[in-house]
This record gives sequence, C-alpha cells and structure tokens, in this order.
Amino acid sequence: MARVAVVTGGTRGIGEAISRMLKDDGFTVVANYAGNEAKARDFTARTGIAAYRWDVGDHEATLAGCAQIAAEVGPIDVVVNNAGITRDGVLHKMSFEDWNEVMRINLGGCFNMAKATFPGMRERGWGRIVNIGSINGQAGQYGQVNYAAAKSGIHGFTKALAQEGAKYGVTVNAIAPGYIDTDMVAAVPAPVLEKIVAKIPVGRLGQAEEIARGVSFLCSDSAGFVTGSTMSINGGQHMY
Ligand code: NDP
Repeated sequence: MARVAVVTGGTRGIGEAISRMLKDDGFTVVANYAGNEAKARDFTARTGIAAYRWDVGDHEATLAGCAQIAAEVGPIDVVVNNAGITRDGVLHKMSFEDWNEVMRINLGGCFNMAKATFPGMRERGWGRIVNIGSINGQAGQYGQVNYAAAKSGIHGFTKALAQEGAKYGVTVNAIAPGYIDTDMVAAVPAPVLEKIVAKIPVGRLGQAEEIARGVSFLCSDSAGFVTGSTMSINGGQHMY
C-alpha cells in the first residue's frame, strides 16, 4: 500500500509543487490549506489530490485534521511542514499580534503536526518529516524579526526532533529555500525584489519545483541516512 504524505499549505506555491512531486513519487498525498477555498478546489480538480482545511497553528484543529486523514486515507508516514505566512514590519512598528501570528503558524504549526504524527511514525518504525525553513531564518532579514525567529526556530526544532526519531527510522530534515517565485514573493515591492535578485549569484528567483525536488529526495528510502540536516536551495545567495 502506498505511504501517506501530508503537505501543509500544499494547495499553492511551493506546497503545490511538493504535493504534485510526492504524488509522482508514488505517495498517497493529502494537501492541507488554511482558507483559500477557490485555490484548493482548483488544485484538487487539476491534480486529483484531496485537500483538507484547518489552521496548522491551532493545536486541537491539527490533531483533529490528522486524525481524520488517518481514518479516511491511512496512517500518516510523511509530513511536510510547508505552511507559512509573513507579517513584515520593522520591530518598532510591529504589533504583538504580527509577532505572535507568525510564531503560532510558522513554528507552532511544526510542533502541532509533529505531535499529531510523530508518535505513529515512531511506533511503525518509519517516517519522514521535512520542515520548510528559510534563508531568512539562517541569515536574518530587515523587517522580519518575527519570520526570521520562527524560521530559525524551525532549524533548531529539526535538529532536536531528528535526535528523537533517529533510532526509530524517522528522519527529520529541513530545507531552507532562498527567494522562490510564488505569491509570497510577489507581495514584495518590485524595487526591493530587484535588489534581492541582484544579490543571487545564479541571477534569478528559484522555482517551486526546485524546492520540491529536495523534499522528494528527503522523503525517499534512499535518504534514510540523512537526518537533522538543512538543505539550502537558494541560488548561492547564502553559503555557510
Ligand atoms: P504561499 O503564500 O504561496 O502559500 C502558502 C500556503 O500555506 C497556502 O497553501 C496557504 O493556504 C497555507 N497556509 C498559510 N497559513 C496557513 C495555516 N495557518 N494553516 C494551514 N495552511 C496555511 O507560500 P509559499 O509557497 O511562497 O511558501 C511556502 C513555504 O515556503 C512557507 O513556509 C514560506 O515561509 C517558505 N519560504 C518561501 C520562500 C519564497 O521565496 N516563496 C522563501 C523561503 C521560505 P491558503 O491557500 O488557504 O491561504
């Protein structure tokens, strides 16, 4: 029977590319989304991949969503924590709500999904968790103390949980994308984006499929010796 993979925020942008590639890899894929019904319906019609709606920042809703998937589709073997938001602003103008919402969804979502699925993976002796961090969690970014803190937290979360999963066949890794051509980046003002692209050695934005390819590898059986790692896919913008 095909393994079941859940991709949070899996109905558009990078998440859509991940959902599609994992389906091509032979997984039974379920995509989660927050509230954009039109995009989710269109995604399911185009891909045949089921979409389940809940807020990954809501602990109880995440437990319920994953329980529903386990009952309707099967036990969850793979989780890609891709859902994320930005609420940018310099610190002296950032509200507590903007801080908290980004921490709650971007970092809290990883905890909630792991609470819902890691124990089952551990019991069954096989699992894959891939967390989507960011170059801005590695390097910091002006106007993003909330986002950079949450994404940086994801990289620490990954290394800690990897240690807990290692002897049970559960790998936990992160991908730190650079700037990828999605709705999230389209929201960046054009003059700011031009300056960003000028700093990317490869000379262009990345494509969602280039992130999905990394996720596909980390979710495969051949990646069983890779755990606690962060794969940077950023066109050479940040190397360390
Ligand atoms: P998009 O804004 O294009 O898509 C975000 C997805 O996340 C949507 O499917 C959205 O659902 C979902 N989502 C948002 N909030 C929640 C929530 N509370 N619960 C469940 N789902 C939620 O994002 P990208 O594709 O650009 O980014 C994907 C990930 O990659 C994010 O974690 C982002 O931080 C990270 N990243 C992106 C980079 C980029 O350059 N684009 C660079 C580095 C990292 P809905 O459609 O319902 O709104």
